[in-house]
Amino acid sequence: MTETIETIPFQAETEELLELVIHSLYTNPSIFLRELISNASDALDKLRFEALTRPELTEGKEEPAIRLATDPEARILCVIDNGIGMSREEVVQNIGTIARSGTKKFIEALKGNQEGTPELIGQFGVGFYSSFMVADEVVVETRRAGEEKGTRWTSTGRGEYTLEEIDKPAHGTTIMLHLKPLDEKREGGDQVPDFTQQWTVRETVKRYSDFIEYPIEMEVGEGDEAKVEVLNSRKPIWTRLRQDIEESEYNEFYKHLTHDWNDPLRTIHFKAEGTTEYTALLYLPSKRPLDLFDPNQAKSKIHLYVKRVFIMADCEELVPVWLRFVRGVVDSSDLPLNISRETLQHNRQMDRIQKRLTKKTLDTLGEMRDKDREAYNGFWDAFGGVLKEGLYYESEYKDQLSELALFETSAGKERCTLPEYVERMPVKQKEIYVLLAPDRAAAERSPHLEALRAEGYEVLFLVDAVDEFVLQRFEEYGGKKLRQIDRGEVDLGGEDTPEREEREKALEPLLEAVRKELADEVEEVRFSKRLTESPACLVEGENSMPPQMLRFLKETGQPVPEQKRSLELNATHSLVQRLEALRGDEAQFARFSDYCHLLFGQALLAEGSPLSDPARFSKLLTELMVEGE
Ligand code: ADP
Repeated sequence: MTETIETIPFQAETEELLELVIHSLYTNPSIFLRELISNASDALDKLRFEALTRPELTEGKEEPAIRLATDPEARILCVIDNGIGMSREEVVQNIGTIARSGTKKFIEALKGNQEGTPELIGQFGVGFYSSFMVADEVVVETRRAGEEKGTRWTSTGRGEYTLEEIDKPAHGTTIMLHLKPLDEKREGGDQVPDFTQQWTVRETVKRYSDFIEYPIEMEVGEGDEAKVEVLNSRKPIWTRLRQDIEESEYNEFYKHLTHDWNDPLRTIHFKAEGTTEYTALLYLPSKRPLDLFDPNQAKSKIHLYVKRVFIMADCEELVPVWLRFVRGVVDSSDLPLNISRETLQHNRQMDRIQKRLTKKTLDTLGEMRDKDREAYNGFWDAFGGVLKEGLYYESEYKDQLSELALFETSAGKERCTLPEYVERMPVKQKEIYVLLAPDRAAAERSPHLEALRAEGYEVLFLVDAVDEFVLQRFEEYGGKKLRQIDRGEVDLGGEDTPEREEREKALEPLLEAVRKELADEVEEVRFSKRLTESPACLVEGENSMPPQMLRFLKETGQPVPEQKRSLELNATHSLVQRLEALRGDEAQFARFSDYCHLLFGQALLAEGSPLSDPARFSKLLTELMVEGE
């Protein structure tokens, strides 16, 4: 047999990521072992799952286990599993490439932020690559269960890796780490512990991987004294009693499960008894993962077990899609072991479980909102946008969700809830005033806010990308309509005084003249009840299509209905008075026309929209400035 070793360069992003890992992850080098053991445990899960339909894969083979072996002289640590293993293609796919979405963005973020690096890496989860914190060469030997040949992958973590076909007697994966010399002191950190020492390995396993359900074995003692010791207690953490579990144990299990390096924000652990028996251990993460809005991501991140046997990852029946950020496991006592994705879909027990998990999660959030607003604010920043999707999709949880939502408000910097808003509403206010805007600053600048402000009304700013969708279905809270202040006609409950009516009536010919001038630009011109300082603003029709929908139609090449807006004028503004004066003067007609167009342009600028004809606008403005008057 001719032996061929193929050398392959790392994908550029992998290379960059490796550099960053090696140089910046010094706070806690021990976690590489947790990552490798987690991967080994996942590989054993996968084998067990595949063997349900292909029993020949495990029949007559060794019991599933993870083994650790050390050689202090050669400075080698091996992590060995007899799990599913990888084919050659899988090796290239999984450990030569980083297929995860958002990698580029992630690397950019890391580069610009030296201090926050460990935390950011935690969000991304670099897994296997963390080996290069402690090793200067890593050799992976692996054979996929059911295949004949194995593969050896070797790399120093710099530039390239090699691949080679090998004979490997057992399926599974061996990761051999050539550890860096001991005396190497790292920048900003202590000395790296010696992972060829058995007690270091034992302590690290106890600390980070005790709950792994497969035995983590290590040969201890020498010669005749040698024996195999199991380092972990192997008890799935969720089967233990809550009062016996330390917070740090919960946190380590979370990290194993999610590959997140940050602690979770909240842990929810309960056992349901009665017609449907199961245990759930759920976590609310503290940071938003980079791929939260990636449409290819799973619609649930909760794993399903039946009687402690892993059945499937990311089980979509367990939570509604707007709780897809919740992590954890559910272990059922009464579902059949051979349950499949298809049969799960119409399973009544699953419905019951989903209801209960949803309720528990929402209750936990409600408690956090009431008792720890700071933590809740953090939660909302990370996941509020996803939770709000529930207001669009659900009717069952609408009430609870609408009280969990936080809103930016014109009343101040602190965000508020709807009950808080309603509590502050003046008696005469009948509706909940809201304003869709790209961000808080844009909302603050909106001319539509003026009259409401002047009247002492508070307005909620809807600044999340999902808000436009949400508003299509979320129309009222507590019997009060949500009213978009920049659409249709608003009635602030202010009185229509005779003076006002008279003034507007007298100016009716002006409206007509402006309408004629701007006929190509706007649908209607009318006097405003919402302006106090600005001369004019643009208003969406009550039932017009939301801008997001229009954009969607445009992007997908579909016909876009022409949709003009209305221009509202402030009848008391001196500029409007001036227009009226010009209108009456035949000789000034050209100027009247220019002013109308300037006014329209100004209304666009005030709301942050692009001008329809910037060249004309700036020409008119220049002329006006030159004339000076
Ligand atoms: P993650 O585990 O977060 O996906 P890693 O970089 O740690 O990221 O691993 C990448 C992939 O390599 C894993 O998803 C898995 O498919 C594969 N892999 C890693 N270790 C093993 C192993 N011991 N056995 C089988 N596959 C493995």
